[in-house]
Amino acid sequence: MEDLISSSLPGMRDLLPEETGRWQLVEEHARRIFARYGFEEIRTSIIEPTELFARGIGDDTDIVGKEMYTFMDRSKRSVTLRPEATASVVRAYLQNAMYRGGGLTKLYYMGPMFRHEKKQKGRWRQFYQIGAEALGSDHPAVDAEMIEMALWFLQSLGVEARLLLNSVGCRNCRPRYVELLQAELSKSVGALCEDCRRRAATNTLRVFDCKVESCQPHIERLPAITDHLCAECSEHFGKVRAFLDEGAIGYTVVPRLVRGLDYYIRTAFEIVSGELGSQNALAGGGRYDGLSEVLGGPPVHALGFALGLDRLVMILPEEQGAKGQGRPELFLAHMGEAAMKKAAEIARDLRHQGFSCSLDFSAGKLKSQMRMANRLGARYVLIIGEDELARGSASIKNLEDSSQQDIAIPDIAAFLKSHIQGRTA
Ligand code: AMP
Repeated sequence: MEDLISSSLPGMRDLLPEETGRWQLVEEHARRIFARYGFEEIRTSIIEPTELFARGIGDDTDIVGKEMYTFMDRSKRSVTLRPEATASVVRAYLQNAMYRGGGLTKLYYMGPMFRHEKKQKGRWRQFYQIGAEALGSDHPAVDAEMIEMALWFLQSLGVEARLLLNSVGCRNCRPRYVELLQAELSKSVGALCEDCRRRAATNTLRVFDCKVESCQPHIERLPAITDHLCAECSEHFGKVRAFLDEGAIGYTVVPRLVRGLDYYIRTAFEIVSGELGSQNALAGGGRYDGLSEVLGGPPVHALGFALGLDRLVMILPEEQGAKGQGRPELFLAHMGEAAMKKAAEIARDLRHQGFSCSLDFSAGKLKSQMRMANRLGARYVLIIGEDELARGSASIKNLEDSSQQDIAIPDIAAFLKSHIQGRTA
């Protein structure tokens, strides 16, 4: 016999039934909330031409430079497992000419992303994101509405979440600001870490991502981008903030919050939670008006955010996870061949009426069937033997308080309906 393959790849994990209930709850909640804001789901392919991410995220980023799962497929084409979904959504938007109708296109997605990152708490190599993209408008109200949706989604799940906000300028005002940064950085170049020295020359804004302790005093002294926005960017940022204020949405302006790439403009935001510890970012987003052109499309105003599901599920309040997803409402225990057939028939009928039912076909003793009912967390157990069958009735037991009563078989559905609170079926 071959050796048992008994572990997944490092940084990958299985989500087991005791966890997936919480995941489903979050996913269903996202669908409900996003639909209220007029977002529709898009499902793009998980594997894409490498070039899409090289261009769409940027060769110079850690994601593209160090973290992508890239390989040659059987037709010798370089392909990559998606490390994020915005580039794919924009690709699909362009490929399907979704801009043709004009106006605003609002899309959301959810699913796995892949990054070969260093192992750390709160970081996986296959992780899940829920994200939304609004394409076709540069109106600041669109920015504010999207931020409001992301926050409302989290807060209505009972999660503590704070908004950090910034504007990163545009192609007109940012180059001047970057020159200013470079001039400042050149004064302390000897004191900076190797990465910062490289970034200062190639991708200056990313200096703000540096975590090295000795660089911090120099970074803190750098001028703030919010003091160097052009009139249009200033006005846009002011309006985004005014719309947020009108919706009573709190935020902190953090001038260090930047995106490195040229096609990110104006609004940049992050949602953090104190419940997360050091990896405290729950979601990141911003405007990326230049991305469509980078991918060869027409100019398209757009903004979006991506929210880490793994982290969200980690801090979901306990009561949100209490709903056992596969917990049967009724377990049907049977004794004898004829009773088993009847139990199967009753289960089929009840399932068609919307009840979740389980039974054990291995014809074990009643005791072992009761053990299984308990293990599955069933609410009620129906016990059918030859005698009950002859009478056209069965015995129904409430596993929570152990009360038991006889019930006529045709009355089971009505009994469950009236005893299982909050059911809608
Ligand atoms: P990003 O696409 O890097 O802006 O990330 C958006 C969000 O996805 C972050 O705020 C995290 O919540 C989540 N995220 C990113 N990378 C990982 C990872 N390796 N493992 C788990 N969650 C992640």
